[in-house]
Amino acid sequence: AGCSNSKDKAPAPIPYLDPALPVDQRVSDLLGRMTLAEKVGQMTQADRAAVTRDPSMIASVGLGAVLSTPALVPTDDTPADWANLVDGLQSRALTTRLRIPLLYGTDSVHGDNNLIGATVFPHNIAMGATRDPELVREAARVTATETRATGPQWVFAPCLCVSRDLRWGRTYESFGEDPKLVIQMETILEGLQGDGAEDLADPTRVLATAKHFAGDGDTTHGTSTTLAYKVDQGVTVTDRAHFDQVDLAPYVTAVGKYHVGSIMPSYSSVDWTEDGVGNPVRMSANKELLTDILKKKLGFDGFLISDLMAIQQLPGDYAAQVRASVNAGIDMFMEPGNAPRFARTLLDEVRAGRVPVARVDDAVSRILKAKFELGLFEHPFTNRGNIGTVGSPEHRALARRAVAESQVLLKNDGATLPLRSSQRLYVAGVNANDLGNQAGGWTATWQGTTGDTIPGTTILRGIQQHAANVTYSADASAPTGGHDVGVVVIGETPYAEGLGDVGNGHTLNLSDADRANIDTVCGAISICVVLDVAGRPQIVTDELAKTDAFVMSWLPGSEGAGVADTLFGDRPYTGRLPVTWPRAESQEPINIGDRNYDPLFPYDYGLTTARR
Ligand code: BGC
Repeated sequence: AGCSNSKDKAPAPIPYLDPALPVDQRVSDLLGRMTLAEKVGQMTQADRAAVTRDPSMIASVGLGAVLSTPALVPTDDTPADWANLVDGLQSRALTTRLRIPLLYGTDSVHGDNNLIGATVFPHNIAMGATRDPELVREAARVTATETRATGPQWVFAPCLCVSRDLRWGRTYESFGEDPKLVIQMETILEGLQGDGAEDLADPTRVLATAKHFAGDGDTTHGTSTTLAYKVDQGVTVTDRAHFDQVDLAPYVTAVGKYHVGSIMPSYSSVDWTEDGVGNPVRMSANKELLTDILKKKLGFDGFLISDLMAIQQLPGDYAAQVRASVNAGIDMFMEPGNAPRFARTLLDEVRAGRVPVARVDDAVSRILKAKFELGLFEHPFTNRGNIGTVGSPEHRALARRAVAESQVLLKNDGATLPLRSSQRLYVAGVNANDLGNQAGGWTATWQGTTGDTIPGTTILRGIQQHAANVTYSADASAPTGGHDVGVVVIGETPYAEGLGDVGNGHTLNLSDADRANIDTVCGAISICVVLDVAGRPQIVTDELAKTDAFVMSWLPGSEGAGVADTLFGDRPYTGRLPVTWPRAESQEPINIGDRNYDPLFPYDYGLTTARR
């Protein structure tokens, strides 16, 4: 009889495996069961290539996360391949002693852009031009749905950079130059993550990463000797008030209002001395900003993920780099091919007393909290229920609308636009008919590439859907006066990081081919329209005079038909410039405080048309 009680009772569930318990209790229970090595493993992220080469590291390191970065390995995997890969790695993680699931992260910066066949939205600069936070929220939900259905539960997006210098090659990843606009577009966080921790387990949500903290779009004097890194990965030289108002402000909202799950510190540095003669500390080791301000003052309770190999830019040997960045507050380390070494080094640093155990416990608690909130302990494998929505007509229709809303009409003499279907059109320029160019960087590959890299609809195809009489020539050969309207599509070729368009010599200037196309077509046909397909304003001061209408089309992504929808008046032009448009490159960086500043078009400019 004495035993009957214990026979009737089910064994007490292990607290951390009990979904009925609050997340913080589960976290502390699990943390209490972990060895130091297991904790350090949770702070370690390897890349897909490294774990595919050596899957045993998942268990031997006790890896916390894996990423797919196109910077190292682009992939042409199908949606099912992706899910199989992620689930295969996950099943290995579940063989470890405590069965802690892996986080899997990917750069879904404009749709799930590493997945061929995904809906590819316009880049952020175009989304900023829409001034439509609801649209941005809806688009982000599509991105989250397509990403999660194929495995990754975590995205390295959005970029909350405030772009203050168009020469920065990552300008197109920014919603604009005004922190108020960036904050307005932070509905992207709601679209990705949902309303709060409760939503993260939903198969249409992912954990977001606000990046790159902070001031990445506002750098001037780079410390590097290479030209590219004077602007990209440079130094934000500024006073505290400016930094707070421009660079930090988007993070105050991201943390306070949207509870962003993770934040990625920038490759860049901050120099408070205003004259740029201070001794800037790389963000990866900036304890004041990462710990005192972000975590303590702003109350950020997610985790900090280092940028790709960013800690390796810190001074000293590897142990010094690891120590400085962990002690500054970084919680997880993107060390793609270096994960076992990272874990070993951190373990040694903790054992030697140079990194406090309390710091490790704090980092691991933050990471585990995300895993519990994402529901990974209950559902570690991919819920593939939405896999059929990848690139679906509904998702593409939303992207097409986003493209149309993002178009900015800068000139429209004599109501040239909208065009009429009956007009005989001559279309010129490579960018009229190139999916890779219209999608830009971070598409299929890291830098993006010219050509048919992804499925989608080119701008030319969109135009042909509206008008019956269309002649196309990439190099503008033989336009004749027989045509009613010439449409010249100019712009950039894809790039991801650094200084931008290589073809144009890293400048904002038009290519020779684009200038020649404008001259030829606008010289031969009496009505001449130019569409600029680029990640940022280009210098068009002289060319503008030769045109009747000029449209900034940005980088539309997979749905070029949206460009034609506004061109032909199915939708009105309503987009407005999210950045000031300079007359000359010498006007960069932005200087809105200067009374003599006389840009070609001011911030917020954009003509409107009625629907036809
Ligand atoms: C970029 C990040 C990106 C990471 C992983 C880095 O080079 O700066 O924005 O998330 O690569 O692909």
